[in-house]
Amino acid sequence: MLKNDQLDRWDRENFFHPSTHLAQFARGEAPSRVIQTGKDCHITDRDGNELLDAFAGLYCVNVGYGRPEIAEAIAEQAKELAYYHAYVGHGTEASITLAKMVLDRAPDHMSKVYFGLSGSDANETNIKLVWYYNNILGRPEKKKIISRWRGYHGSGLMTGSLTGLHLFHKKFDLPLEQVIHTEAPYYYRRENTDMTEEDFVGHCVYELEQLIEREGADTIAAFIGEPALGTGGLVPPPAGYWEAIQKVLEKHDILLIADEVVTGFGRLGSMFGSDHYGIKPDLITIAKGLTSAYAPLSGSIVSDKMWKVLEQGTDENGPIGHGWTYSAHPIGAAAGIANLKLIDDLNLVQNAGTVGAHFKAALKAEVGDHAHVGEVRGEGLLCAVEFVKDPETRTFFDPSEGIGAKLAGALLSEGVIARAMPQGDILGFAPPFCLTEAQADEIATKLGRAVRSVLG
Ligand code: PLP
Repeated sequence: MLKNDQLDRWDRENFFHPSTHLAQFARGEAPSRVIQTGKDCHITDRDGNELLDAFAGLYCVNVGYGRPEIAEAIAEQAKELAYYHAYVGHGTEASITLAKMVLDRAPDHMSKVYFGLSGSDANETNIKLVWYYNNILGRPEKKKIISRWRGYHGSGLMTGSLTGLHLFHKKFDLPLEQVIHTEAPYYYRRENTDMTEEDFVGHCVYELEQLIEREGADTIAAFIGEPALGTGGLVPPPAGYWEAIQKVLEKHDILLIADEVVTGFGRLGSMFGSDHYGIKPDLITIAKGLTSAYAPLSGSIVSDKMWKVLEQGTDENGPIGHGWTYSAHPIGAAAGIANLKLIDDLNLVQNAGTVGAHFKAALKAEVGDHAHVGEVRGEGLLCAVEFVKDPETRTFFDPSEGIGAKLAGALLSEGVIARAMPQGDILGFAPPFCLTEAQADEIATKLGRAVRSVLG
């Protein structure tokens, strides 16, 4: 490993960090942290601080850090064959095996997997496939995509447009005109507190129906959604939401893309969020948990129904004009195989469910009654605590107070990493699936101290 006492200067002079206040960072006003090692649920920075990573990197290191099984699989693949492409029918033992393993785990009606590198590029692939599908079916006007406010689907031009968070649009001339947004299934933030969950689902359906009517069903190709909202606030949907939304989509012949970049491979305590909520998607986006981020790899899982039309398309038009140099990269595929085996061998999906339930209960017991806690919510190992000025009225703190960031900072000084989510004062928790109940309790206790230190 490199040892360099000038890293801090080099960092500020040369490195363009994503999602960072560039000016403050360059001026040395925002902190930098150099991470050196990781083991299970902990990472250690170069100053020797050991931190419990309750966000698994960016909710991606699902099997935990430092797994030799995956490191060895990567090394063996790199020595045997570091790269070959997947164009015109090429593959490697690793990429073909992983495709089979993914389909074995996916809902029954799924047919093939197209491998990419990131969640963003997999969603770009999905939108291209949706457009191609409708062109082959002779309906070139049916192209708009419905996404939800507070959805997160990536940072590209199309995927940044699908993302329903203001920060990702502001000053980037997004969203693109083909993307339209509808109500987020965020029961806590319902406008009228008299609404039951059922009423609120009815309201989401009404909003969707209205949008479809305004735009015209024959102009709308697909609806994209995370089974449980992630970056927009870690919000499980109200009961009955997916069933009701799918009825509307079926009625208007609108495809459904389940973005399972966060929920895929176990985070909710089920292999897929689609299984968890009874979703029957036409496309599923996977990334993060596919390799637990040991190497970059993503995928678009295509249903039987869409696959048939894609085949028809290539019979009529020649090979599909879509490919990345690194599609199905053998090193990523080798990491994916080892990762999925570990998830099975260690029973990690089940652990995410049971420890997740324990964790949510511990968070509720520790901070649920605090005067500034609006809601403690979660499903499996995807949990959040939402802070408000006044729980009675659900009023937000003034964003300039930076309450979320202050809370994350206070928790960090207790040795625990949580994520201050980008919209609202929401602390997000999405630890590795190997979290123990004792560690879940530790996070909750330390959160309690952090909350009292910032908010009294
Ligand atoms: N979709 C979801 C649900 C995500 O949470 C993310 C990233 O957090 C993405 C897509 C984009 O993935 P990536 O950052 O790998 O491009």
